[in-house]
Amino acid sequence: MDNELITKSAQYIVSSKNSIALTGAGISVESGIPDFRSKDGLWSRYAPEEYATISAFRENPEKIWKMLKEMEELVLGAEPNPAHIGLGELEKMGYLNYIITQNIDNLHQAGGAQNVIEYHGNSSTLSCIWCGNRYPVEEKGGEYPPKCGCGKILKPDVVFFGEPIPPYALTKSFQLAASTELLLIIGTSAVVSPANTIPSIAKQNGAKIIEINMEETHLTSTITDIFLKGKAGEIVPAIVSEVKRIAGK
Ligand code: NAD
Ligand code: ZN
Repeated sequence: MDNELITKSAQYIVSSKNSIALTGAGISVESGIPDFRSKDGLWSRYAPEEYATISAFRENPEKIWKMLKEMEELVLGAEPNPAHIGLGELEKMGYLNYIITQNIDNLHQAGGAQNVIEYHGNSSTLSCIWCGNRYPVEEKGGEYPPKCGCGKILKPDVVFFGEPIPPYALTKSFQLAASTELLLIIGTSAVVSPANTIPSIAKQNGAKIIEINMEETHLTSTITDIFLKGKAGEIVPAIVSEVKRIAGK
């Protein structure tokens, strides 16, 4: 870990009046939920192009539910890791206004953050794409695949490829990106659109960009100001302690 860059990042955070974070699957890998790239994870058996599109769900919801059930079990068994908890602490200290997450795993909230925008929805409710009914997941717990009162198979309220972003998340994220002074980008390959427009909107409006990832992304050499290479679960807590030291908290 590069201590100088950690200190510089913490200084940016302390001096910024308005900061947000954009997170992706990488921040939850240390909680045991694989990202799209993991070699032996869920996604090596269920190609996202084949299993995470809305047309695939419409055609064969039983097939897609095999993947959804495994994902659901992983998510239900997962605990927030030090990266989620660290962002929650930054929010409580007043150094982080919002987290925009592409994840559907609820781990930011479990880690103590309150201002979380779920760009790709949340897996805690299920909807019927045929009749529009919605159910809390607990109500259908144990049913596999869960069915609507109308008889059709339900879909979790997460955004599949080919589905629109929830309107509030889209508008709010755009406003935040356009007005933030600092953007922390954590554990995302930033290839999924339109979430990947957030970094460039922030940059165009003059935000400083701090990126945390195990490996470089297409953002690293183009818009990132500080690149912190490594595990989010190690880097975020290191930044938080440095923020506390600088701010005297
Ligand atoms: P991605 O899989 O495309 O990229 C993950 C990124 O995280 C990679 O750049 C990888 O290098 C990095 N990474 C992996 N482990 C890390 C760690 N410990 N610390 C820091 N960085 C790490 O994920 P994406 O960009 O989020 O896009 C995939 C889409 O699928 C998104 O919508 C995503 O949220 C969704 N998805 C969600 C979950 C979840 O809710 N936890 C899991 C898988 C996929
Ligand atoms: Zn229905």
